[in-house]
Amino acid sequence: MSSRLFDLTGRTALITGSSRGLGRAMAEGLAASGAAIVLNGVDAGRLAEAAAELRRIGYTVHEACFNVTDEEAVLAAFARLDESGVAVDILVNNAGIQHRQPILDLATEDWRRVIETNLTSAFVIGREAARRMVTRGHGKVINIGSLMSNLGRATVAPYTVAKGGIKMLTKAMAAEWGELGIQANAIGPGYMLTEMNKALIDNPTFNAWVVGRTPQRRWGTPDELVGTAVFLASKASDYVNGQIIYVDGGMSAVL
Ligand code: NDP
Repeated sequence: MSSRLFDLTGRTALITGSSRGLGRAMAEGLAASGAAIVLNGVDAGRLAEAAAELRRIGYTVHEACFNVTDEEAVLAAFARLDESGVAVDILVNNAGIQHRQPILDLATEDWRRVIETNLTSAFVIGREAARRMVTRGHGKVINIGSLMSNLGRATVAPYTVAKGGIKMLTKAMAAEWGELGIQANAIGPGYMLTEMNKALIDNPTFNAWVVGRTPQRRWGTPDELVGTAVFLASKASDYVNGQIIYVDGGMSAVL
């Protein structure tokens, strides 16, 4: 009984930004729980490599190479999935970028780029996925937020605004789509070891701050998001809706 609660056999999951990092780890975890997966990224070579590696394990892997900020490309990708009979039951809005600069020096163009990539894409791709989920009467949307969904920090204003927006978009989706059979939730990862954080990991002062500030005294690893992603993608979370679950080693729980 308990294993079936988390079984994703027969489901298909689209994970944006899954050629590497957290998206890649969540894609692999969803596939290990039985889902077919649709990988996404902008770099076609990196995407093909990730897809080939996961196929070698024996997973069913589709590739959808598109830029999440390009609405036409998003619509075309969904049309291609429709044509090939691939129905997305689980959407993980994960693609994201960081841009670190004080507000006083920040160009509007960089502000827009971060908001478009981290927030507007989740609305557009969420809408396209949900339009199709509605016709089947079920669906799971998992938006990737951050500790910055709830807390500010110097030099990352557009990221903080986008991730705060992700938390509220998740609530808006839950409010409108609950009665349609779709649950929308978010994951707020803490400081995780990925390329996005390379500059921070390599900075001894920042590294010491993360380790000292986190009750578990270490950074998180990408595979540590898998359990929560599988939970939110599965039947086990059928009455969980509009929530953000922080996976952060306890950082957001303490001062
Ligand atoms: P990485 O930089 O390691 O990977 C980013 C992924 O997103 C890549 O697959 C990249 O594809 C893809 N991507 C970036 N821009 C686009 C785009 N415009 N269109 C399509 N795909 C795109 O990031 P992380 O794995 O660290 O982060 C993933 C998510 O988790 C982000 O939303 C991030 O904000 C969030 N997060 C990360 C934390 C961390 O500590 N790492 C903490 C909290 C939240 P490609 O390979 O083609 O460039």
